[in-house]
Amino acid sequence: MKDFIQLGNIAIEVTRKAVKNIHLSVHPPDGRVSLVAPTHVRLEVARAYAISKLSWIQQQQEKLINQERETPREYVTRESHYLWGRRYLLNVINSNEAAHIELGHQDINLYIKANSTKEKKAAVLYEWQKNLLRAFIKKIVAKWEPILGVKINAFFVQKMKTRWGSCNYQAKNIRLNTELVKKPKDLVEYVIVHELLHLIEPTHNDRFVALMSKFYPTWREARAELNELPLGYVEWS
Ligand SMILES: [Zn+2]
Repeated sequence: MKDFIQLGNIAIEVTRKAVKNIHLSVHPPDGRVSLVAPTHVRLEVARAYAISKLSWIQQQQEKLINQERETPREYVTRESHYLWGRRYLLNVINSNEAAHIELGHQDINLYIKANSTKEKKAAVLYEWQKNLLRAFIKKIVAKWEPILGVKINAFFVQKMKTRWGSCNYQAKNIRLNTELVKKPKDLVEYVIVHELLHLIEPTHNDRFVALMSKFYPTWREARAELNELPLGYVEWS
């Protein structure tokens, strides 16, 4: 039977072996933690040891998550892909139907012809993500336009290297980074509100900050989370 040590949201699996010292390991891909303890060591002692290494554990987990998210995707079964801040596993399923995606509880099921190239798989996934993001933006824009008293002519979803979104206040349109589909929905909503507010105030001056604080009081927290999440290699102000 296995013992577990629970430290906050970290569950550490404890195994006993004929070893001299306690060993802690953090495993890829998602940072699972295990501890091997000498047979005679009591669980309380192992627990105290784990607590003393807590910041190291967290550092290792963060590193793994960073690595995982930044490695180029191969579009193979069991690979992690993110949607609305949650991690899903990709399932590539050979199918002669038109390529499409079905979302499961924990999986993204990609139905595609056998031997499809990585590029083809990426393109199907990207189109699907874009459509999900478009549908969400449409809903959120419709919710916020009357609250803010603005009206856009159009919105666009596209790959953007350095920003989460942008606003052309003269043409009255906003652009949003496709990567946002991987972020929690409340953070995406924050970006949309930010861009919509540029229709009232195009620059990031005091007036803009005051508007942001009035309509989205937790914007500072949202911005910090967006820029600090492991996926957030896109900097945005
Ligand atoms: Zn801005």
